[in-house]
Amino acid sequence: MSKKLIWYSLISIIMISFTTWIFITLYESEEPIRTADTVTNFALKTAPSGSDSQYNIELTMNEEGNFHIETSVIIRNISKDSWSELVFYFIPNMFTENTSLDLNRSLEVPSTVNLHKVTLNGEQADYNLDKDTLTVSLSKKLEPGNDIKVDFTYDFTLPEEGLRFTKNNENYYLAQFYPMVATYRDHQWNKEDYRFRGETYHTAFSDFKVKYEVPDGYTVASSSDSDQYPGPSNNTFEVNHVKEMFIAILYQPKVIQKMEEDITIRVVGFEENEDLYKEISEVASDALRYFQKNIGPYPFTQLDIIVDELGMEYPGIVTANSVYGSGPVNPNALKNMVVHEIAHQWFYGVISNDPYNDAWLDEGFANFATGLYNLSGSNQEVPYETMNKQLEDLEPLPVNLPLDEYDRNMSSYVYGKSSTMLWKLFEQNDGIKGAEKFLKTYYDHYKYKEVDTEEFVRFSKHYFDLEDDSFFREWFLLE
Ligand SMILES: [Zn+2]
Repeated sequence: MSKKLIWYSLISIIMISFTTWIFITLYESEEPIRTADTVTNFALKTAPSGSDSQYNIELTMNEEGNFHIETSVIIRNISKDSWSELVFYFIPNMFTENTSLDLNRSLEVPSTVNLHKVTLNGEQADYNLDKDTLTVSLSKKLEPGNDIKVDFTYDFTLPEEGLRFTKNNENYYLAQFYPMVATYRDHQWNKEDYRFRGETYHTAFSDFKVKYEVPDGYTVASSSDSDQYPGPSNNTFEVNHVKEMFIAILYQPKVIQKMEEDITIRVVGFEENEDLYKEISEVASDALRYFQKNIGPYPFTQLDIIVDELGMEYPGIVTANSVYGSGPVNPNALKNMVVHEIAHQWFYGVISNDPYNDAWLDEGFANFATGLYNLSGSNQEVPYETMNKQLEDLEPLPVNLPLDEYDRNMSSYVYGKSSTMLWKLFEQNDGIKGAEKFLKTYYDHYKYKEVDTEEFVRFSKHYFDLEDDSFFREWFLLE
């Protein structure tokens, strides 16, 4: 990779994180190297999800863009408490006219949502829908280890200029479009209020069966491994062990395909810009190879990159084009954004974290992995001096506060300062090589588990053989 390209891609980290975390100076490490061998006899303390869900979603879209959905979910109580209610995120309701008015956030084209029916094991149930919180009362308590089947029948239309759940031109982006079962921990449902910055929903790894029917001329790109182009207008698929299901219904897109080993990378766009789409597929292929080698296997056989919408990760599919509140980014920033979203396939997709209470764990790691990928292909070294300088310009807030405890500067901490913290761990520990080794070990321990800040600190202390928490107390608010 040329110096210029690296410079651009590093600059584009700013676009993603709204920070000035640019790495430009050089640093040489002379300290001894710690190895992953130190991580033997280490008992994990991962965060339990409390709920376990299997979804069955049947979706029909008509020519006017009206959706009819039947979602059935079998939920198992894997907590230690008896439940008297079930709690779901129902995000389509955040973009209706009423909710928008309540929040003083009017949309020119709001969503419409009609929840017709909720049943529990086939019997009509009482429920309450307030903003994105859908609570279903249980007439009889659900004891630990037991299952319940909940059916939802609903219709919706998509808003324009929504957030992730949105319509853009003739394209329909179905993100978080079904009632998503919350996690349950510390004797309560772990459901926070929706926010329009960051990801405020947290779900367990779940299984999905999907059946869809869309009008002719549209093609579906989704979390499925078997999306085709041009795709059929009706189909069924299954995706197991993923945090959520994403479905894009696209009108006559342009699709570029590239193989990286046995993984099909598809770049999907809407402009006459084949050269750019090809370049994106090259970068994606290169990054995928690097992450597979240095972190762990990519968990699917297809990776879709939709060049539209806000940069965002979903299982097996990402969107990349813009950042919050601005138009499309330039091509180099776009490529960097694609690498960042691909990195999330490991940090979010495989190693889970609560994105409301520990957002840095996926955003900081995705930024760090992106920086690592960029630097590994160059002769540049990690620019620690510049990082230090940038830290001086920030208020000394921790990087692991819940989303509602930051002001507009949230990204500087959750994306920027947190990835600097990760770099600092390797300043005395073999730099890039040490970082690659750490990521692999971290992945091996935490794949398909949920990490929180305390566990990250516990693991890292063990890995680096640190005597106390003093390094981490500079960066985190710890118990
Ligand atoms: Zn991200």
